Amino acid sequence: MANYTRCAACRYLRRRCCEDCTFAPFFPATNPTRFAYVHRVFGASNVSRMLQQIPEEQRREAADAIASEAFWRVQDPVYGSAGVVSALQTAISRTQRELAETQARVAVYAARAQSATAPAFADEERWSGAGVYLPSNHP
Ligand SMILES: [Zn+2]
Repeated sequence: MANYTRCAACRYLRRRCCEDCTFAPFFPATNPTRFAYVHRVFGASNVSRMLQQIPEEQRREAADAIASEAFWRVQDPVYGSAGVVSALQTAISRTQRELAETQARVAVYAARAQSATAPAFADEERWSGAGVYLPSNHP
């Protein structure tokens, strides 16, 4: 078989690619990095074994999951994809806190606007943009 028809795995492993190559359907030669990460993290023989142990119709999804985890594990060797999930959860929490603060501020403004004894507009200007309430003598 000619070199250009080898899949990314067989190219990387410098071996011949056969018609029933386990890797060929999931690791095309056009994306050599995908297999390089998978090999670095899991090892080619382990991945080959994993793919052969599951039904053929599930191999595509498994290969994608393995490739995804390998990619994130290379980016973050300690936490892998869990690190991404954790970072996103932190960002969601921070954004939810900001939203709650903003909604509370809006509620305060709305209450003041409806109150007949509401302080003058200048009082509202003491809120800085960063969620810090500045004293009235703040420059
Ligand atoms: Zn191959």
